[in-house]
Amino acid sequence: MNIVPQWVFEFHGHRCPFVPIGYRMGQVAMRELGVDREQNSSLHAFSEMGASHHNTCMEDGIQAATGCTYAKRNMEHLDYGKAAMIMYHPEHPDRRAVRVSLKPEAFDRLGKFEFINYRKKGTPASEVPGKAVKEIVDWVLSQTEEELFTVERLPDFAFREPEPKTFAKVKCTKCGEYVFEPQVHIVKGKPYCLPCSRYAK
Ligand SMILES: [Zn+2]
Ligand SMILES: [Zn+2]
Repeated sequence: MNIVPQWVFEFHGHRCPFVPIGYRMGQVAMRELGVDREQNSSLHAFSEMGASHHNTCMEDGIQAATGCTYAKRNMEHLDYGKAAMIMYHPEHPDRRAVRVSLKPEAFDRLGKFEFINYRKKGTPASEVPGKAVKEIVDWVLSQTEEELFTVERLPDFAFREPEPKTFAKVKCTKCGEYVFEPQVHIVKGKPYCLPCSRYAK
């Protein structure tokens, strides 16, 4: 049985099957690239999930396992609407990127659990009866990697480096709050934050 630490579910807010799916995806991707959990921002993770569907809970699992987080800007979502992730590490030129996707057969199997019926009827994940939650989470954790995932190398993966981060900030002429330089708007030669710049024009 695979394990997801309790803090991951606590951070996420409820127990659900897509947190362990993302967590395991992240573990597989890190092992395939031969990298450890990221402490800073070198390693990059891309979720293929988007915004207008369920299953995005997967992304909290990916962040927890890999240390690639939205806050550190080394986690992004590609909005393909697919249960898959790509991991990239710039220091591994010979095996730069790997993709881990949930097999369609596993996706089908997940749909047969009572948990999913509750969710489709509109029950929030935190209110699904514990037995139904345990059943589906245990199923995810007990499956082999091969049963759940397809793993592929992406030799041609193109990565757009994020803009370099800056410590430089200036005070907005109107509200007096600090604004980091890339977001400063100059109106008549004076610096403004975006909301204030609309009134200054
Ligand atoms: Zn969830
Ligand atoms: Zn302002």
